[in-house]
Amino acid sequence: MKLIFSAPQATFIHNLKNILDTYNIDTKILGEHRSIGVGDLPPVQCWIELWVLDDKKESSAMEIIHQAILGSPEEGEMWTCNDCGEKIEPQFTHCWNCGAER
Ligand SMILES: [Zn+2]
Repeated sequence: MKLIFSAPQATFIHNLKNILDTYNIDTKILGEHRSIGVGDLPPVQCWIELWVLDDKKESSAMEIIHQAILGSPEEGEMWTCNDCGEKIEPQFTHCWNCGAER
């Protein structure tokens, strides 16, 4: 089981879980009732966590979440790869042509 995302808002985590469900990626939400401790714990420890049950699906789950958060390809601006000069769509963090990081 791998932790792939955490956030303070339960609704946000549930939305991500629903999205991953549609891709047949099984997830588990942890820490939902931890907010009782707010005040004693540093805020980040009260965040709700989304875990992927199958370790092998971690990277695809990350990719899906990444796209869900960044939105559709129409949003944002194209960027140009520093290494090869290729124009890359905004949702990608790496150049599809040469693999360089944005
Ligand atoms: Zn490139």
